[in-house]
Amino acid sequence: MNEVNKEKWSEEKRKKVIDYIYEKNYGRKFSESIAHNICVICGGEAKEFTTEKYRKDYLNTGNCQKCATDLEEKIKKMVEISNNIRMRYTERN
Ligand SMILES: [Zn+2]
Repeated sequence: MNEVNKEKWSEEKRKKVIDYIYEKNYGRKFSESIAHNICVICGGEAKEFTTEKYRKDYLNTGNCQKCATDLEEKIKKMVEISNNIRMRYTERN
């Protein structure tokens, strides 16, 4: 197998793995969701985005605006919680 074919093969394999993971978790394949402009998480339309960044992110994450924003909020809260825990821990010690 030459280098070009090897690269092509691993790209195909990568896509298959990603589709498998998304289908296991959300019941939808990543590649099919992108092809139909739907969100891989909620299955809703993924056509309206507030910024160009979110539109570009969609091609990598498959998340619609609402799911992307929800995820960001969840991550923010998790960071806040872990910061609070760390602060309480350092206060005591
Ligand atoms: Zn969504």
